[in-house]
Amino acid sequence: MERRRASLAYDIDGIVYKVNRIDWQERLGQVSRRAPRWAIAHKFAAERAETVLRKITVQVGRTGALTPVANLEPVAVGGVVVRRATLHNEDEIERKDIREGDTVVIQRAGDVIPQVVEVVKEKRPKGTRKYKPRKTCPECGSSAVREEGGVVRRCTGGLVCPAQATERLKHFVSRDAFDIEGLGGRHVAAFWTEGIIKTPGDIFRLAAREEAGEIALAASEGWGGKSVENLFRAIAERSTIPLDRFIYALGIRQVGQATAKLLARQYGTFETWIEAMKTATEERAGNSEEKKKPELVGAGFAELCNINQIGFSVADEIAAFFAEPHNVAVLGDLADELTITEVARPAASPISGKTVVLTGTLDSMTRGEAKARAEALGAKVAGSVSKKTDYVVVGADAGSKAKKAAELGVTMLSEQEWLELIREDGEGGKSSRLLDASNE
Ligand SMILES: [Zn+2]
Repeated sequence: MERRRASLAYDIDGIVYKVNRIDWQERLGQVSRRAPRWAIAHKFAAERAETVLRKITVQVGRTGALTPVANLEPVAVGGVVVRRATLHNEDEIERKDIREGDTVVIQRAGDVIPQVVEVVKEKRPKGTRKYKPRKTCPECGSSAVREEGGVVRRCTGGLVCPAQATERLKHFVSRDAFDIEGLGGRHVAAFWTEGIIKTPGDIFRLAAREEAGEIALAASEGWGGKSVENLFRAIAERSTIPLDRFIYALGIRQVGQATAKLLARQYGTFETWIEAMKTATEERAGNSEEKKKPELVGAGFAELCNINQIGFSVADEIAAFFAEPHNVAVLGDLADELTITEVARPAASPISGKTVVLTGTLDSMTRGEAKARAEALGAKVAGSVSKKTDYVVVGADAGSKAKKAAELGVTMLSEQEWLELIREDGEGGKSSRLLDASNE
């Protein structure tokens, strides 16, 4: 394909290979909604070009992370003119000794942001200086600090930092979050600048404020009576939202869609979730970095950590979010404007708490898969049959274990019966597989 690439009538940047059998695809499942285990992407080698780095500037993201950016002498790479490239972080600049004025090699792979690969040292002009990382946020002037052990420098400005506030608002209205029709990232950014929307809660007060004459959107440029009416209707529609979407929309670091779903399923209602997060945060407060055992921190924090796939680092991030008083205030103000609907906890599976022994060969799955599946549904998988065994799953060519089960009168299941038993809770089984290993 790479050889044929130049003669194709369209642009490609790689190939995707897929398992060409639906039943195998179903067995393999997916890491997350957009990452099936039955497909793999092969990207062609990135295209490279040489150019001059004019200046290093710093960009501030939604989470306050400062990212150094290379401003380049425009150069064509793979048919696209590149003016900027990411430098990732200050350690990377230090490691590659990238300086303003340097000639650099940049590369672009697919639609990924271009990056600086290396410096062409022979072409370095006289008088260049080593890059000095800035210690303040270019957007708001707040001090920017590096977390211990991390490579990222972050602005401490929180909601006073325009970059963070607008980026958070953009995330808040994005497709997988509140997804308000007619209110895109550009709109909220403009509203923020005009002082109309400062926090997410403000979005849901727009209609009332318009009515009270505090704002005049219908009369403002780019909007008309009709479009404002539509906007208010779209906002009203979204003022009822499921808990998982709500959590995702908050933009807590490391809490992506899958994690938000896990949290919503664990705690069910908004009230339960909030209380649990406050407890976990109080327990976490004042605990040192070294205290890496959740149970030493507290029972509430341990529960949070022990949710399948969440773990210490994500739980810590959530606690850090709730430890910021302004975050709690903004969240409370927002919740007052909304109806946050409950997310059903997964029903207990029929094999939850049961002891299962697998024996013989199964047709539809390997022993390892069967074990993982049973454990995901809350069963304990044992190696030998005893009086405590609840089920023995008997595959082809089963030996002594089946015999022993018969002697002890333990319930024996054929592969078909086993599949039916775990399929009864198809939803739980599917979701645990879906969420398995997904971690943003
Ligand atoms: Zn800032």
